[in-house]
Parts: sequence; structure tokens; C-alpha cells
Amino acid sequence: MRKSLIAGNWKMYKTTKEARDYIHELRNADWDVDREVAVLAPFTCLTVFHEAREWSRVQYGAQNMSWEKEGAFTGEISPLMLLELGCKYVLVGHSERRQVMGESEEMINSKIKRALECGLVPIFCVGETLEEREKGQAEKRVAEQIRLGLQGVSSGHDLVVAYEPVWAIGTGLNAKATDAQEMCSFIRQALGRMYDQKWAGLVRILYGGSVKPDNAGEFMSQDDIDGALVGGASLDPAVFRSIVNY
Ligand code: PEP
Repeated sequence: MRKSLIAGNWKMYKTTKEARDYIHELRNADWDVDREVAVLAPFTCLTVFHEAREWSRVQYGAQNMSWEKEGAFTGEISPLMLLELGCKYVLVGHSERRQVMGESEEMINSKIKRALECGLVPIFCVGETLEEREKGQAEKRVAEQIRLGLQGVSSGHDLVVAYEPVWAIGTGLNAKATDAQEMCSFIRQALGRMYDQKWAGLVRILYGGSVKPDNAGEFMSQDDIDGALVGGASLDPAVFRSIVNY
């Protein structure tokens, strides 16, 4: 049984004060015990989640990390620093990092391996561009990202995959729930072929791309979609709360 995960990606929004207000707003929020709620926050806000860990039900993590544990890497954040602040998750390979920061498949693979070695759960993002979809290459592209991203990774780890078609991120254009289901099922089958069916059946696969309160339920009702990665709509605690309670 896969526990569903609704994860908010705050991107580069919110000061520590705003993060503190947000967590307090969610303090009395209720959601089913069969669903997990998490926020991927800017590094500077992680300490706020750490301070609230005794009473907050919201899990948390970072949006990026270094593939090294320490060293002369100015401006980077080590997985050990994230662990010290109680992070459970780390986003790896978000399309904004691939496209804007130029992250390569090799860097993403190194980050996934390091996160798993250190005990963080990677939320590994994959997804095709509009051009790739229009050329009928969406599955080929996603299969390649999965193969390269997981090179040298053994089965059995707690891993989350987020299918996020690039053309649906921050655009208000969401994939059709049935198309998203098709791709998430394709990803699960690919994992089954690379590893084993048993583990593939345990990996949680999220859909991300313009998830809103009025479409979350449709995505969540699909067999192979185990949750959502929510960007813009996670910034307002009331809106995020209604997605969590889709
Ligand atoms: C994201 O940032 O991963 C995302 C899916 O953004 P949005 O929900 O705004 O499309």
C-alpha cells in the first residue's frame, strides 16, 4: 500500500517570517492519516520547520542539494546540513534546475545517489518538454531520464518520482489526468523492468504541473498517481489545505 504524498514546492518564495505564519496556519488543519503532507522550502526556511517539528504534522525537505558531503563548493548545501535540520525529502532534477541552472543528467544521478546514501528521500523529477510531446517523444524522454538518473542505484530504497511535464509547470496548463496516469504507469513499468516489480509497486509516483484544488481529486483518483507536487498553489496555506483535502 503506497501512502499518498502531497508536497508543496515553494520555489524561491517566502521569508522565515512568512514560513512561520504558514506553519501556524496549518497547525489546526486536518487530513486523513493515509496521506502525507510535505513542504519543499527554501534553505533559509528549513530551520522554521525544524523548530516546529514537535507539533507540526507537515514533513519537509529542500529543493536542491550538493552531491558532495563537504568541501570547497561555495554556495552549495550539503545533505548532512539538511539532515541536521530534520529534512526527510530533497527535490532532485526539478525542471527549473535542469533548464535554468543547467543541471545535467550526471549531476542529477550523483545527487540521487548521495541523497540515498545519506538517508534523505529524493523526489526525482522527470518530464518532457512541449516539443518532445508534440513530436511523440514524451515516453522516450522520460525513460531516458529514469535510466540515467537511476544509474548505479539499487532497488529497495525509499524513492519518490515526480512526473512533471515541463509545459505544465507554472503555466496553468495541466496534463489530462488520463495522460498523466498513462505516463505514471509507464514509469512504474520501466522501474519494474530495470529492477523488480515488487519494488516498482512500492515507489510513489507523483504528478506535478498546475495542480489546483479543482483538479487535484481527478489526478489522485488515478491508479498509478500517488500524490501531487504542487508549486504555485502551495504558497497560500488555505489553497494548499484544500488540495491536501482533495
Ligand atoms: C512545481 O514547481 O514543481 C510545479 C509543479 O509548479 P506549478 O504547480 O506551479 O505548476
